[in-house]
Amino acid sequence: MRSAYRGGMPSPSPDLQQLAPSLYRLRIPTGSAHLLNCYFWLDEDGVTLVDTGWPDSAELIAEALTALGRARSDVRRIVLTNFHEDHAGSAAEIATWSSVEVIAGAGDAAFVSGTERGPLPVLTDLEKTIHGEFDEPSHGPPCRVDRVVHDGDVLDFAGGARIVGVPGHTPGSIALYLPDADAVLTGDAVAEFNGDVILGVFDTDREAASRSLAAVAATGAEIAGFGHGEAVVANASDRVSAATDPFAPAG
Ligand SMILES: [Zn+2]
Repeated sequence: MRSAYRGGMPSPSPDLQQLAPSLYRLRIPTGSAHLLNCYFWLDEDGVTLVDTGWPDSAELIAEALTALGRARSDVRRIVLTNFHEDHAGSAAEIATWSSVEVIAGAGDAAFVSGTERGPLPVLTDLEKTIHGEFDEPSHGPPCRVDRVVHDGDVLDFAGGARIVGVPGHTPGSIALYLPDADAVLTGDAVAEFNGDVILGVFDTDREAASRSLAAVAATGAEIAGFGHGEAVVANASDRVSAATDPFAPAG
């Protein structure tokens, strides 16, 4: 087993979960976020990374690639489900590893590249019990965006990965349906929390986010990987259509 040292503390081997033959979840253990994840899709000719963790997550992602028998230079594509720092944080660094195409939803691209400031989430009273008010948008280091995508666009991996527009958490939030795995990666449109599938929290537009749940459920996916929480490996679309909203506004 490889061991790496960060801040004098030994770091454990990467926490990877195989969700399908070519699909892996990596837990990002650092930072304050609830069970943060990013995802790898492995093709013979390269790797697609969906989200990139915090700004200090690149080394862990490199370790995970090694554990999967791949290298930094194998990363061909980064898909960012939203612009927030816990998802786009290491994109700029990883985009330098090789010839990487960085992909973001049209409504978030300017916030990823740093040309515009993103909107603040509007917290419910219950959300304030798990996170203080945001006084500035959660930006990571600016990262170039090579390709802007919209609902219904198809990317050339996983049997034609389909972009599902899921505005609400952020204006340009996207999910990805991966036909070869019958899996959907939801970003923060949906989350798993204490065993429940729930509407994602810290949304800029909660009503839009609620409507976006239906678009995720409509994929019919068997498997779901969330930005936060444990994956669902069976009947995922049913679980998403029955998602609860434990942090809903009172009244
Ligand atoms: Zn998040």
